[in-house]
Amino acid sequence: MTEPLKHPLGLTDIHATSNSQQWFSRAKQVLAGGISSSARASTTGSLPYPLYIERGAGAHIWDVDGHEFVDYLLSYGAALLGHADSGLCTAVQRQLSRGTMFGTCNTVEVELAEQICAMVPGADLVRYANSGSEAISGAIRAARGFTGRNRILKFEGHYHGWVDILAISNRPSVTEAGPLEHPNSSPHSRGIPAGVSQDVIIAPWNHKNIIEHLLNQHGDELAAMILEPIVANNACIMPEEGLLPWLREQCDKRGILLIYDEIVTGFRLARGGAAQYFGVTPDLTIFSKAIGGGFPISAFAGRQAVMEQIGTNAVKHGGTYNGNPLCAAAALYTLRTVNEPGTLEAIHAKGRMCMDGIARAAYDAKVPCVVQGVGSMFQVIFNDDGKPLKHYRDLWLVNTQRYAKFRQSLLMQGIHANSSGSACWFVSAAHTAEDIDYTVRAIAAAMKDVH
Ligand code: PMP
Repeated sequence: MTEPLKHPLGLTDIHATSNSQQWFSRAKQVLAGGISSSARASTTGSLPYPLYIERGAGAHIWDVDGHEFVDYLLSYGAALLGHADSGLCTAVQRQLSRGTMFGTCNTVEVELAEQICAMVPGADLVRYANSGSEAISGAIRAARGFTGRNRILKFEGHYHGWVDILAISNRPSVTEAGPLEHPNSSPHSRGIPAGVSQDVIIAPWNHKNIIEHLLNQHGDELAAMILEPIVANNACIMPEEGLLPWLREQCDKRGILLIYDEIVTGFRLARGGAAQYFGVTPDLTIFSKAIGGGFPISAFAGRQAVMEQIGTNAVKHGGTYNGNPLCAAAALYTLRTVNEPGTLEAIHAKGRMCMDGIARAAYDAKVPCVVQGVGSMFQVIFNDDGKPLKHYRDLWLVNTQRYAKFRQSLLMQGIHANSSGSACWFVSAAHTAEDIDYTVRAIAAAMKDVH
């Protein structure tokens, strides 16, 4: 029997997290909203302030009050190898002592690109950036430059970053969304010019008839169709059987480039990402998060003819920090590890044990829900019919209170998962059998608190 974690949070005692509370008070004086990203605006369950994490090792993290958690947020999936992985630290320290960046070409960026091209189907040429949003901007510009067209088809609820070009209909409300057959292009934020929304056509995921209708209407104006192959930002909604090959065909018929946003799925689903996992190759793919193992690096890669737009400088792409040897060294180490037989298989297997644990606990506690995703990334959705979600709008019908209670109960037991039920859980190479065993037992207890 595994020992319980040493410091269960015990949120019944508010003073148990007083250091986090104080840090948030300080933060609000100097950081807008007290935070560094809108995604962190959510509080910790019943606490009106976030937990401040000061240390991580393997699959565990510690907050500033000394509580220990098994981590399934994993910096939104970036920490694929876990926190402070020793091999990754060595690779980075080696580069650190040789200089972090020179603003010149460097050998590590070349080795990394070779590694990406060897692993990813359809990756003939690569360019780097520093965040997901930035790499998306590069890929979209390349697609527009290649096709000479402006408009982009995006799926409702799919998230492609915070920058203007695609921050449209990320999470529209019932009133913003418009009719299912013709969804509105609804800006995600104030400050996005109307022209941006006009260039983005919104379609409902997994609705072939409606997608086809929209393609018939707008097909010859579209430079690209972009999608999250598994919708990490909509509780891991899966593509229905046959959807991706069908989308590939539709794009080919109309001269539209197919772009996979693999910022979450890349190097996590399979060595070659979603293209390998689902057997359908896009024209362009965007990577971030797992590629850097926790370091800020992103990349976009794809078909020679399209990437040559950038190669010849017909389409401009720049960036001071692009391909810097420090982050490239982190990514190279991470990808070599991912490429080793068994690395991803083991992560998936551990994740599936958590998914099965949730399903079993829900069955025993008679709580209706569905667990969707694949082992290394998944989410539980507390809906009444227990059926897999088809598209974003299904999330409107979900019992969010239940996820909040489930997550809160887990947090009190030392399990740290995303506070949003619309996002997902991530599993790393560093989770041990003991971590998973402890998590499954905590899940069983948490499910009893969900009613
Ligand atoms: N695409 C997807 C699928 C994402 O999950 C994210 C980040 N959550 C982004 C794009 C944007 O990446 P970044 O936050 O690094 O700009």
